[in-house]
Amino acid sequence: MADCLFCKIITGNVPSEKVFETEKVLAFRDIRPQAPVHILIIPKEHIASAQQINASNSQAVADIAEVIPKIAEQEGISKQGYRIVTNIGFHGQQTVEHLHYHLLGGRQLGWPPG
Ligand code: 5GP
Ligand code: ZN
Repeated sequence: MADCLFCKIITGNVPSEKVFETEKVLAFRDIRPQAPVHILIIPKEHIASAQQINASNSQAVADIAEVIPKIAEQEGISKQGYRIVTNIGFHGQQTVEHLHYHLLGGRQLGWPPG
């Protein structure tokens, strides 16, 4: 997707602070961190949001699920815990239309969200 910000991060056309990468998945630090650890985990395949997941592309979600514990371990937050969030659409306040999971941690998080 030529005009997708996260596709540009995948190709390197937009710089990012990468923390983890596999053939299928990229993880990089959020530019406006909301917690001491705030990482975005994205599939390299362009999928607009979790609402677009179906039987033909759901492996992307499994690929992301597989790297989450490794990133948490690498960031030193696996024991104290953390949160995974994916915002979807207008009410979900999704601002970038490329599927991404926020990994938030490094402090006590509040619940419920706003
Ligand atoms: P959303 O609001 O769609 O759930 O999450 C998008 C996230 O992308 C936001 O937390 C925002 O701070 C982050 N973001 C927006 N532009 C950039 C960028 O150019 N680089 C990085 N690393 N993060 C970005
Ligand atoms: Zn994209």
